[in-house]
Amino acid sequence: MFAHNKRLQYTVRVSESNPGLANLLLEQFGGPQGELAAACRYFGQSLADDDPGRKDLLMDIATEELSHLEIIGNLVAMLNKGAKGQLAEATASEAEIYKGLNGPGNDSHTTQLLYGGGPALTNSAGQLWTAGYIDNVGDPSADLRSNIAAEARAKIIYERLINATQDPGVKDTLTFLMTREIAHQKSFEKALYAMEPNFPPGKLQGDPRFTSVYFNMSQGDGDMRGSWNSDENFEYISDRQAQRAVDGGDGTATVALQSYEVEDLQAMVSRTVSDPNIDPQTGAELGAGDVAVIK
Ligand code: MN
Ligand code: MN
Repeated sequence: MFAHNKRLQYTVRVSESNPGLANLLLEQFGGPQGELAAACRYFGQSLADDDPGRKDLLMDIATEELSHLEIIGNLVAMLNKGAKGQLAEATASEAEIYKGLNGPGNDSHTTQLLYGGGPALTNSAGQLWTAGYIDNVGDPSADLRSNIAAEARAKIIYERLINATQDPGVKDTLTFLMTREIAHQKSFEKALYAMEPNFPPGKLQGDPRFTSVYFNMSQGDGDMRGSWNSDENFEYISDRQAQRAVDGGDGTATVALQSYEVEDLQAMVSRTVSDPNIDPQTGAELGAGDVAVIK
């Protein structure tokens, strides 16, 4: 079960109304790297995991992410508070209200007009939140890697938001949220390496002929060597011939069909065959009149 505590995980102190900034913060409320997406990701993984340590870790972090959603939602609500009252009560002139919604660097009109200043489950551009942001596949070695990357992305978005505001209270709260994503990344990395082996993801090993091969597919000025393609770590293949039909076959695609399948297919092929020897007049030429004759 979930139980709610009325005190936030971190105190929210906003210095002044700023609907434009509120809109930017929506990125972490209903955006792809936001707190709801994070909470749903780890919540679903926890329910499905049979390992007691990971199950607990994932539920702890999922619940913390919901607490972050509450914090960022409160930031949005506080930043919109002044404009919300003004618009609802029409206490300022139309011009002043219009400026408040559409002033320089501020396009908060959708948040204000449609959502009344409350935190909406959209990103900063109004794109609706979608479960498509959740990419769990139900394998811990794959999901933990995805979680590590998700925490890295969330950290970067918070960093950009911190760089975009001068409000010390907002900066302080965002710094807490950013810092927690660093802690989560560390826990997920530890959990990944607590599982041995954890690479490659899943149970099947790759075909040993290809697991440590590097194909130099893009060739020319700018070819570079490093540990990611070094001779110590990889078999480096630049020869174009050696990059083709690497299984040793003829590099064509074949399928064995039943005789009735072959008959149907041949009928279709002969019905749709193209004749390279005819040059029909087409609508394009008729439409062009005398201006353009293709010949
Ligand atoms: Mn978070
Ligand atoms: Mn996190």
